[in-house]
Parts: sequence; structure tokens; C-alpha cells
Amino acid sequence: MTTIRLTNTRTRRKEVFTPIDPKNVRLYVCGPTVYDRAHLGNGRPVVVFDVLFRLLRHVYGPEHVTYVRNFTDVDDKINAAAQARKAAGDPRSLEELIRERTDETIGWYHTDMDALGALRPTKEPRATEWIGAMIAMIEDLIAKGHAYEREGHVLFRVRSYKEYGALSGRSVDDMIAGARVEVAPFKEDPMDFVLWKPSDAELPGWDSPWGRGRPGWHIECSAMSHELLGASFDIHAGGIDLQFPHHENEIAQSRCAHPEGSFANYWLHNEMLQVEGKKMSKSLGNFFTVRDLLDQGYPGEVIRMVYLGTHYGKPMDWTDDKARQAKQELRRWRKYALDVEAGEPHPEVVDALSDDLNTHQALTELRVIFTRLMTLKVDLEQQCGAVHWASRDDYRSAAARFLGSCRLLGLLQDGMGHWSDIEAQNSERIEQLLLERAAARKARDFARSDAVRDGLVAAGVVVKDTPQGAEWEFGTDFDAAKLWSI
Ligand SMILES: [Zn+2]
Repeated sequence: MTTIRLTNTRTRRKEVFTPIDPKNVRLYVCGPTVYDRAHLGNGRPVVVFDVLFRLLRHVYGPEHVTYVRNFTDVDDKINAAAQARKAAGDPRSLEELIRERTDETIGWYHTDMDALGALRPTKEPRATEWIGAMIAMIEDLIAKGHAYEREGHVLFRVRSYKEYGALSGRSVDDMIAGARVEVAPFKEDPMDFVLWKPSDAELPGWDSPWGRGRPGWHIECSAMSHELLGASFDIHAGGIDLQFPHHENEIAQSRCAHPEGSFANYWLHNEMLQVEGKKMSKSLGNFFTVRDLLDQGYPGEVIRMVYLGTHYGKPMDWTDDKARQAKQELRRWRKYALDVEAGEPHPEVVDALSDDLNTHQALTELRVIFTRLMTLKVDLEQQCGAVHWASRDDYRSAAARFLGSCRLLGLLQDGMGHWSDIEAQNSERIEQLLLERAAARKARDFARSDAVRDGLVAAGVVVKDTPQGAEWEFGTDFDAAKLWSI
């Protein structure tokens, strides 16, 4: 069986991955808080851990992997969004507005992540459907002396868990000095964090032994992962920004409530994303949602390939240049992978992914395999002519294995290639217009040849005349509607 190695944040080492039960490999990834569209940085863990899910399914069998990713649908930002709608005159109740906002956002999330080619997790629990499990876990933590109630709040007693800070390598006293903690009069210690907080009549709330209230964010993941994956499971993953305090708090809650379990054995964290070398921010004007890019005409598959070009453990830089290269490459790959059934992936691609999810190396291997496929095509063309190479069994079986290797990274999936069909039609149209322009010039019909040239410029097609003839490419402002109206 393939040996998978993963860099475990908990031990800071690359370790051989040994699942607790190979018949049920269990993965938990912290999901989104559903108040707005996912931005480009949010898409990175989705795609990276989708590749991990695909690899685990390949190695252990699709029916032997359980992947849970939650939706946080109770949160101050969601409440604020709903309250803003109510303040703007919406006559509906706050509960209705909150439900509408979270349902709508979950719908967007699914559409956008589907467009990136991510498989849906096995289970996607919504926090509001697991409030009972959260209350039970909080009661248990109080009974065991790890939590206490003050003024309708329940707080976790951080100093009761000696290993607190081990994941991120911080001491409790350093963290207090760093002052990323909220001081409140009802806390025994400034480090203590909220498990439950009171809700006023205006806000969503649930009845509990401590009055009407709502859960803190951290307890959601601890309760839902326990209910769906058990007290010990294999991998817990998320963005590096969640390592502290969110993941430290999850560990403290889960290990104290279920000391018989190990919680998660392997912790994986993906690094952050920048845009053209700068931190993505609304004030810099370089803030994009995944939807913004899709609407601008970046195929989801292209966005996916750009993410996978950088190892998850390194900061990645989104650039237009990378997107353009990915598009060109995928266009060629799709053209020569043909309509074959996906075959077994090549071992060098499986090995690259098994080595701590080295997607960058896997893409390098895919390029080598593709070059071999093109060499085979040229050889076959010489043997049997320009038409017949594509129907040869040796070509088709090589293409099938190339396709199967791409699919392990979630590339070249069925149903994701419409962009290249549309591109092929657009390319054909441009080629035909350039022929028309050449004919018009030859016939000294300069009005017609200038009209074609101006039309192409207006449609965002970049044309360069060379001694060998006209060369062209899609400009960044390419507009298909204008192309077809020339
Ligand atoms: Zn979480």
C-alpha cells in the first residue's frame, strides 16, 4: 500500500500517516462562517484538502474515508448582516432573516466550491443543528472542573489544561503578554474563553441550563467532530490563521471532555494567500471573492491549478500571469486527453502527493507525462498519418493514464471543461476573421480589413502581424459578445 507522509503541526515533523482504522479514515476541516461570499484565500484550504480527500480515497478506497466540514451558521457577523436588513425596513423576523442569509450563503459556497472542482465532504453539519451536543459537552466540562458559569456566560478554565498552547508552541503567559485575549470582569483568568454566552431577546438563542444563549465558535467544532467522527480521529485541518486560538481551544475542550480519546492525531495547516505580492485587502483594492474571478472569466479549473502550483505549507501568491499560464496549459491538456475513460494514475503523481501533498511536484510530473504523450503522438502521426493517431489504442491508453493522473488532483474533471469548448469556438471565430482580413487586404478592400482589425481590438483580441502571418492571443479584457458582433 502507498505510504502517505504528512507534516504534522502537532509534532512539527513529517510523519508516516497511519490511520486509526484503515476501513474508516476520518478527516475534519474547519468550514466557513456563512455570512458572505468565500474570498480567494478561503478557497485555498478547500482545494488543498480536497486533494488530500482524493488521495485518501485513492489509497484506502472511496467508501473508507469520511470527510466532515462544518458550516458555522451562528455568529455575530451573521446577526449583524440580518440586523442591517431589518434596519433597512425588511418586515420579516430576525430569525427568518438569519436563516435566509445563511441558506443563501451556503448555496453560494456550494456553487463556488463546486466550480473549483472540490468534491462535497461526506458530511456538512450546520452548527445550529447540533446545539444539544454542544450544551451536553459544556455541562460535561463544568462537571469535570474545566469550565464555570458566570453571569449567564460559561467559560473554559484554560489553566486547568496543562498542555494548552502545545499546538502553536506558545505558553499561556506569553499569550497573555501578547494580549490577544479579551479581558472581562466575569473571567477568573484573562485567558479563559467563552463556551456559551447569553442572547438578548433580539438575537438568536437556545434554552440552556445557563439561560437563553448561544454557543461560542470553538465549541461547535469540538462537539460536531465528536458526534460525527468520535473522540479520536485521524486528521484535523484548516488555515494557519486558525491555529491559535481556534485550534488550541478545540484541543483543550475535546481532550478535557473526552480524556479517553486523542482528538486529532495529525494536524495540517495551510499557509496564507497573497495577490500580486501583496496582502489581499479591501483597502488595497485587491480583494477578490472566488465568484468575482469566475465572473471575470477565470475558469474554476484554472483557479484550482494556480492554488496547486504552490505547496500548501508555503505562502502562495495569486498572479494574473500564473492564471494565464495555467489556462494555456490546461487548454492543451484538455485537447490531447481526448474523450477517453480515466485510467490508473501514474505512480510518480501518487508518490508526489503522498509526500506531504506535494502538489507542486505532482504538476511537474504531469508535465513530464504530457510531454511523453506528445512524443507518442508525433511518432504515431509519422507512422499512420495525421488523422489516425488519435484512434490508436496505444495513444488512447496513454491518454487515459494521463487523464487519471490529472483527476487525482481534481483537474480535467468531466463537466468542468465547458470553458475550453467555448474557447475553441472563439478561437475558430478569430482565425476565420483573420483570414477574412487577409483576403480583404489582398483585394485592396481596406475599409473591410480595417473594420475587422478595429472589431478585434474592441473585443480585446491582441493581434500581432509577423512575417509568418498574424499571431493573436486573448487579451485580459476579452469580450466574446463583441467578437461575435464583428
Ligand atoms: Zn474548527
